[in-house]
Amino acid sequence: MLNAKLAAQSHSDHRTIIKLSENVSVGGQDILIVGGPCSVESLEQMESVASHLGEAPIQVLRGGVYKPRTSPYAFQGMGEEGLNILATVRRRHNLPVVTEVMSIAQIEAVAASADMLQIGSRNMQNYDLLKAVGQVSKPVLLKRGLSATIEEFVLAAEYILSHGNPQVVLCERGIRSFDSYTRNVLDLGAVVALKQLIHLPVIVDPSHAAGKRELVADLARAAIACGADGLMIECHPEPEESVSDARQALSLEDMVKLVHSLRPVAAAVGRRVPVAKSYRPLLQCV
Ligand code: PEP
Ligand code: MN
Repeated sequence: MLNAKLAAQSHSDHRTIIKLSENVSVGGQDILIVGGPCSVESLEQMESVASHLGEAPIQVLRGGVYKPRTSPYAFQGMGEEGLNILATVRRRHNLPVVTEVMSIAQIEAVAASADMLQIGSRNMQNYDLLKAVGQVSKPVLLKRGLSATIEEFVLAAEYILSHGNPQVVLCERGIRSFDSYTRNVLDLGAVVALKQLIHLPVIVDPSHAAGKRELVADLARAAIACGADGLMIECHPEPEESVSDARQALSLEDMVKLVHSLRPVAAAVGRRVPVAKSYRPLLQCV
């Protein structure tokens, strides 16, 4: 692979394990489950997600506060107020959080409230942003560009690594093709290839790939079967009411069921889905 000297596998069994909190990491035997709504909408919404998903369990809570929307008239995210909500829920539930950073100016505030910074698909080739998160000492979740080749994806990760941040997790989230029945095409071939080419963890987002909630669970199980290190899945206390990506959001009940259904699949490929005891539930709600 062209000049990806930091990301490339040097010997076939070397794997980078990235720690997201004291007891959560990605890239080892345990499958990482990231769950939560597309957008942070309110404290009540995020509290509901965090308290219901303890039993799944999810290890990382997601929720966008700076939203890259196709239309400038669509909800653009709660911004700083949303970041404060994430910080509150993170503290109350002792649950690491990931959220998207869309510009260099947002990095400092996002890094102060989140455990992992997400670079969204639309910014995978925003090289100044990649260089800037390369200088942050927090893990980065790099999503594949809408029409990025595997090589471009790896070289985007290489930008972050070469600017000093070794903690990069790649996320396959589907690529554009001709068929609009699914929102995107989940490229599981890329997951298999990436696991052979690079030593960094690779997770899969079946939600943005499918675009339809009824396709998400089967794609999630397929992703684990083919060697993904984790999943990022959108879910919401009232899926139909989601302010963004409602059509692909799972209910919290379906999210719990999905996580349980992953166990035999993970076991079949020598992996493990953590059980709920690693989750420390709400201590005190102020
Ligand atoms: C998201 O995860 O909320 C998101 C916007 O995803 P993507 O960048 O993959 O479209
Ligand atoms: Mn979304």
